Amino acid sequence: MASAPYLGARLCVLGPSGKMGRAVLEAARGRDDVRVTAAIDRPDASGLGAVVADGVIASADLEAGLAACDVYVDFTSAAASRAVAEAAMRHRRAAVIGTTGLGPADEAAIEHLSRVAPVVVAANFSLGVNLVAGLVRQAARALGPEWDAEVVETHHRAKRDAPSGTALMIARAIAAGHDSDYERVKRHGRDGDVGPRPRGEIGVSAVRGGDVVGEHTAYFFGAAERLEISHRATSRAIFAVGALRAAAWARSQPAGRYDMLDVLGLQ
Ligand code: NAD
Repeated sequence: MASAPYLGARLCVLGPSGKMGRAVLEAARGRDDVRVTAAIDRPDASGLGAVVADGVIASADLEAGLAACDVYVDFTSAAASRAVAEAAMRHRRAAVIGTTGLGPADEAAIEHLSRVAPVVVAANFSLGVNLVAGLVRQAARALGPEWDAEVVETHHRAKRDAPSGTALMIARAIAAGHDSDYERVKRHGRDGDVGPRPRGEIGVSAVRGGDVVGEHTAYFFGAAERLEISHRATSRAIFAVGALRAAAWARSQPAGRYDMLDVLGLQ
């Protein structure tokens, strides 16, 4: 007797040898709303040929990987995210993209894909951080730019981009609460004779070291009082679980660009 067709989302996991790729594969085990059907890495990646999920061997054949899935899950690099989004256009594949440090050309490729398929893009897939983004917007709106807002992030020493995509997401949420244009008020790091702090500036500072998974604090400095809203991630599993939730959700959405607040129904 033929087995019943699988009704969940078939996934192509990019970068199965990477830190997040491994976390996604681990989180997918034992779930019935998603099933890993392909795992694609760079042609020179270690671990090609290894079995990474039930009947799935890590390979460098992107076209075959995309053909075998409903949704691809991308935690790689900006250049890879762009190349894969371009290839996914031909397959009209849904995407869950967590890669950070994306430039304008990478964003444009993702934008093109979102015209033909549902695409969830998030600098952070954890429930807690997405709530923080909502809370800081509310705090910034209530306190106004008279309270100096600063964001400080800490990550492991191997992280390439700075400030983190999550710190930018939090800083932009503060700008939204102030009704200001983030590009005009941002201050990424300070060095030298920067002068007194202009009202409404939003500072972002990056700390790097050790194996820190990810910590973010938004500070609001008032006169003689200070509010801090912090999030600390102690395991990559939280991002992987959020990405899988996004993949299961994305599959049944119309083409378009979405974020984690859409997935969580918090928009
Ligand atoms: P990593 O260096 O450990 O892994 C990257 C993986 O991508 C490697 O396996 C590499 O071989 C693979 N890769 C590179 N080019 C590829 C290509 N063309 N095709 C397929 N695979 C390719 O990095 P990481 O710590 O796993 O982080 C990856 C990205 O995810 C970074 O941008 C990081 O900032 C981001 N990240 C996002 C979240 C989130 O919640 N959105 C959470 C953690 C990390």
